[in-house]
Amino acid sequence: MESRVDNYSPEQGGSKGELQWGACLKDLEGTLNPQSFSSWFLPLQYCSDENDILTLAAPNKFHIEFIEYNYWKTLAPIIEKYFPANRKVQFIINRNLQPQAPKIETEAADSPVHSPSLSLKKVMTEDYYSTFNSRYTFEEFVEGPHNQFAKVAASSVSENPGRSYNPLFIYGGTGLGKTHLLQAIGNRVRVRDPYSRVMYVSVDTFMRDFIDAIKNNSKNDFSMLYRQADILLVDDVQFLRLREGTQEQFFHIFNDLLQRDKQIVITSDRPPKELEGLEERLVSRFLSGLMVDVQAPDLESRIAILQHKILTENLDIPYEVVEFVAQNINSNIRELEGALTTLLARSSLSHTDISLGLAKSVLMDIKGVKRNRIISIDTVQNVVTRYYKVSPHEIIGKGRRKEVAQARQVMMYLCRNLCDASLKTIGLRLGGRDHTTIMYGVREIGKRCREDNGFKKEIDLITQQIEFEGD
Ligand code: ADP
Ligand code: MG
Repeated sequence: MESRVDNYSPEQGGSKGELQWGACLKDLEGTLNPQSFSSWFLPLQYCSDENDILTLAAPNKFHIEFIEYNYWKTLAPIIEKYFPANRKVQFIINRNLQPQAPKIETEAADSPVHSPSLSLKKVMTEDYYSTFNSRYTFEEFVEGPHNQFAKVAASSVSENPGRSYNPLFIYGGTGLGKTHLLQAIGNRVRVRDPYSRVMYVSVDTFMRDFIDAIKNNSKNDFSMLYRQADILLVDDVQFLRLREGTQEQFFHIFNDLLQRDKQIVITSDRPPKELEGLEERLVSRFLSGLMVDVQAPDLESRIAILQHKILTENLDIPYEVVEFVAQNINSNIRELEGALTTLLARSSLSHTDISLGLAKSVLMDIKGVKRNRIISIDTVQNVVTRYYKVSPHEIIGKGRRKEVAQARQVMMYLCRNLCDASLKTIGLRLGGRDHTTIMYGVREIGKRCREDNGFKKEIDLITQQIEFEGD
């Protein structure tokens, strides 16, 4: 077979730079196996050699990243040898170059390591690996009892990828900050190392790309791309379905990364066990790391989140309005932000100040009906004690009898969900218990509701009764 290195041979003429590049190729050909050499180096094109910078063109971004990751230690000393005056190498993309069908073996990984003083000018990395929303940082993430564990775990992972909790699985309802946390990890890691291979992908995109890859016969490129990540952030894994091998592919990528101590963080709207249509082995992989949940924020946290926004965006909104919005939008943080945005828009369009009256009318539009029925802790206590046949004295006391303990936790859970009381307030009403005890109780009941349908029906029944009596 005629070597394409001959394109750069003296017989073909060519500039001094082209000849030097030809010499590099000859050396590479002698170093690498023929398959790798023709897949990765023959498609490269010498462009120029000016101002300390050697510029080479490659067919696509993937090609550049692949060389950089797998062959840089082989390539750098050879370039140094033939381009001694150069200090940097830069790759550009020339889509007219024909990539060879890439083969995945990379013998270069084991080749003797030189420590090349030549630096690679990384012009491509940024748009190749994910860019993150600059608003989604840990600094902008307001902490409260509802998301504290998740924030601590995410932040620990970003400080110590692959070596703290792996995989980290964050779950919780919509609009509660999962994507924010995931991107905060990406942002933090980027600050520490601008060139780290952090990949963010939503499962939607993952599946779409995978199907494209099958169509284009580039399944190997696809999985190589993900396997090169140092940190893989996967958003909304609940959408992963048994479809055309996506799960299979995902599992292998996942396993491969974990085996090499690469960090994986996953978000989902439900815990792993409740993911439908997922293979057992994938679920147990998810379970092998740390799971943390984000819950709906309590009133204090909702106020804190609004105030944080007001402060960072320098808005002028009276406290009573903040309180009113926080009291009335209790589903999720996205809606809370939405209400604030609508309020600001309405005020500026109608040239009126932001007042309680304006807030009321905006919220009425958003929510359709006015919801200001307030359920008191007393009502919850009355119904719960009656239902479980325990006395008010017992429920706030220290007794550990099974029925009493259960009634107590149910009361914690319902006070939290229906009365919108803070953990602290509930604790005080329950005989001065600590807020962590309340948080534990709320979580336990939430968990049982998810796991045990019969129990959930029981809770729904009590809830209906409370709502009836609360009127
Ligand atoms: P999810 O991915 O869980 O559906 P997001 O991460 O998209 O939710 O969050 C929805 C919106 O709420 C985003 O604009 C996000 O910045 C904001 N948000 C969520 N949690 C917090 C928080 N603790 N502090 C400040 N903003 C938050
Ligand atoms: Mg999200």
